[in-house]
Amino acid sequence: MSGAERIVIVGGGPAAKAAAEAYREAGGSGAVTILAREADPPYERPPLTKDFLRGESGRDELPLADPGWYKEHGIELVTGAEVAAIDLGATVARTVEGEEHPFDRLLLATGADPLVPPIPGADGPGVQTVRRIGDSERLGQLGRGDSAVVAGSGFIGCEAAASLAMRGVAVTMATLEAAPQIERLGPEVAAEITSWLESLGVELLAEAELAELRPGGDRATRARFTDRHEVVVDRVLLALGVERNDGLAAAAGFAVEDGVQVDASMATADPRVLAAGDVAFAFNTAAGRRLRVEHWGEALNMGEVAGKTMAGVAAEWSVAPGFWSTIGERTIKYVGWGDGWEDSRFESGDDGAWACWYGRGGEIVGVATHREDTAYERGRELIEERAKWS
Ligand SMILES: Cc1cc2nc3c(=O)[nH]c(=O)nc-3n(C[C@H](O)[C@H](O)[C@H](O)COP(=O)(O)OP(=O)(O)OC[C@H]3O[C@@H](n4cnc5c(N)ncnc54)[C@H](O)[C@@H]3O)c2cc1C
Repeated sequence: MSGAERIVIVGGGPAAKAAAEAYREAGGSGAVTILAREADPPYERPPLTKDFLRGESGRDELPLADPGWYKEHGIELVTGAEVAAIDLGATVARTVEGEEHPFDRLLLATGADPLVPPIPGADGPGVQTVRRIGDSERLGQLGRGDSAVVAGSGFIGCEAAASLAMRGVAVTMATLEAAPQIERLGPEVAAEITSWLESLGVELLAEAELAELRPGGDRATRARFTDRHEVVVDRVLLALGVERNDGLAAAAGFAVEDGVQVDASMATADPRVLAAGDVAFAFNTAAGRRLRVEHWGEALNMGEVAGKTMAGVAAEWSVAPGFWSTIGERTIKYVGWGDGWEDSRFESGDDGAWACWYGRGGEIVGVATHREDTAYERGRELIEERAKWS
């Protein structure tokens, strides 16, 4: 690749950083610019609902690299730079401030933002989401004597509910599901998660849909559910899933289907433009189809593939995606395609360990484990081999 090549990476999360690093490691010698909307350089998001929220780790442990790393690798990191448009004709990325960054190759690593449904009062002063450091710091102001509703029983909701409860906050988790994660992981795993949350003192409101949020006087928020049940709390955390930041790609005319459609090398139909991480709807060669994932490790994996591709080195996304989630002090590890299952088999191990296997179309498609690392590792191999469900 010629030294004059210009690589522009839009986004400042793990996919962006991994791509820049992989590009350099693969011998890419072009000028690399990362345009990142947040003021902070790329940092770890997973602790924001875990140890960081509980006050067990600090801000200094969050950055993905030392401050000097970017310069040492010849990577220009521009923080506070939000890209407003990609002009494919002029081959420039234009920021909100009107700055133009010319590119030969452009990677969209814009991730996702929390979904805020149109519930009246969702923009109220006592209501928040958690995606950024500041969100976690704000949530972490709550302590003993305070109360919170966590709406949503996905992993972010479960982790935040557990961590807040461990801080002494009186937590009510409201979920549309009959039990946390029952749709994604089945009744046995949902029962495990329920018992973990309840052992921390989290009160569960199952099949509870938020209807309205109103100021409840003296900093409090009154949360009303569709069954008219009401609770008054100091904070409402909306943990209701994410929206992919795929608007730039859609506006530039790329195929977008709740994520930017890319092939296994992370390239769109226009080889100059790639997408990786949460924003991508990427083809996984082991799965034989496109997958949407919102996992830390896969943002790194996809970023690495994109970086190599931009450096002209053949690479593809071929691993079975996986994630870990830590709810209080208990960790679930999952590996699999994550796009549905028909059959499940729950296996109990010693001392509260377990593995739950998932099958679809006669194949093993996933495994969720707790303190069963052998099953997790074996599961990855079987899933990637597309082993038969028996
Ligand atoms: C609280 C929390 C806990 C999590 N815990 C886990 C976990 O335990 N395990 C796990 O596997 N996953 C976890 N995740 C998910 C994981 O963090 C994401 O999958 C991962 O961060 C995705 O990385 P990304 O680089 O694709 O996007 P992001 O991390 O979302 O980064 C994208 C960046 O791009 C910026 N951006 C967006 N639009 C623009 C624009 N137009 N111009 C410039 N910049 C822009 C955004 O501000 C953001 O900084 C967690 C997520 C959160 C929020």
